[in-house]
Amino acid sequence: MIIRGRAVVTMHGPPVENGAVAVSGNRIVDVGRFDDIKTRNAGNVIDLGEQALLPGLINAHCHLDYTCLRGKIARRNSFTDWIRAINAEKSDLSSEDFVASINDGFNEAKRFGTTTIANLTAFPELIPQVQPLIRTFWFAEMIDIRAPERADDLVTSAIESLGKVRSPACNAVAKRARPSAPFGLAPHALFTASKDLFRRCEEIGQQEHVLLTTHLAESREEMEMFRDGCGPLYEFIKSIGRPMNDCGSKTPLEFFLDAPAGRALTPWILAHLNELTQGDFDLLKQSTPKFHIVHCPRSHNYFRHSPFAFDRLRSLGFNICLGTDSLASNETLSLFDEMRAFQKNFPQVSPKEILQMVTVNPARALRQENSLGQIRPDFAADLIAVPCSTSADIFEKIVAFDGAVHLVFARNAEGQIL
Ligand SMILES: [Zn+2]
Repeated sequence: MIIRGRAVVTMHGPPVENGAVAVSGNRIVDVGRFDDIKTRNAGNVIDLGEQALLPGLINAHCHLDYTCLRGKIARRNSFTDWIRAINAEKSDLSSEDFVASINDGFNEAKRFGTTTIANLTAFPELIPQVQPLIRTFWFAEMIDIRAPERADDLVTSAIESLGKVRSPACNAVAKRARPSAPFGLAPHALFTASKDLFRRCEEIGQQEHVLLTTHLAESREEMEMFRDGCGPLYEFIKSIGRPMNDCGSKTPLEFFLDAPAGRALTPWILAHLNELTQGDFDLLKQSTPKFHIVHCPRSHNYFRHSPFAFDRLRSLGFNICLGTDSLASNETLSLFDEMRAFQKNFPQVSPKEILQMVTVNPARALRQENSLGQIRPDFAADLIAVPCSTSADIFEKIVAFDGAVHLVFARNAEGQIL
């Protein structure tokens, strides 16, 4: 099959005017100018007319569990109050509600042109009951604040549940890519997951090449808890029973880095990093390997966190990706909306670089840089199209696109077109 468009945005090199992509099964076999592609490849031609073809978007941080909480939690001044509110909402939901919520989330993400998602779920045991419509990297989100002595058991049972998941990357393309387990572990955050839980995840991450992610330095209240040993989050977490004698001296980042030997060896995917001190930046400067960082612009606006230090983090060499976070602090699962929110906050960043943060960069974070996020031979044929009547300012037009994506070649776990 040959798909022709007004332009093909490969995400490597300039967009190809009057371009085309040759696809065989779930794999891209050729990309270039339409005339050349027709000469080199046989197959039916799908002419998309005045549309740009680009790689499907990749959401680097999401919680589809909470799709059903859209609009349910009014913006609050306190992050801790938001945690209380989401806990109250969650307590009213059944397993069936969560399954429906995750399925609704897949539908919405796909409608907005997302073809791969890094999805954190607090219920990995429910995964067999949901129907991923897009390529999904499942992360088991773990909290052991009430039973830290069971950290190892918690990880073991999460891995058991994740082990039953069919690989979202189990096609020939992905197998040739750098090996990576199709799932990951997500100790929720420093204030809800014990040091033992982080240590165990780190061990598994290193031994099994499992992806690792966590929420870090998200709110001022988290900074207050760890650095100053006080504040609303400190009081709330203390009331749950967490020993607080490790609080009062280190920033969240210092706490995270001051871990059992070896943590720095794993390039964690760190969500947020909103609250950082000058000392933290000094540490980040020395940190190797560089972590992947996920910024969630609209969730960030919702919580009114400190301005995200995009320029500083980028200049230190971090791989910065965008995510939606959940609909408990956001309005849609559209990465186009996310790109626009980012652009509003960072108008100096080029639209091309913004698009990289939902294609090339998250593919790298998920260790799929050789199979996802670009239109290249041998890459997965996860493709989307958006209207584009002229190739001028094409990246600007893509970022400005607002609405449902009409053409999506998304693949499910088995590589079938959906
Ligand atoms: Zn999150």
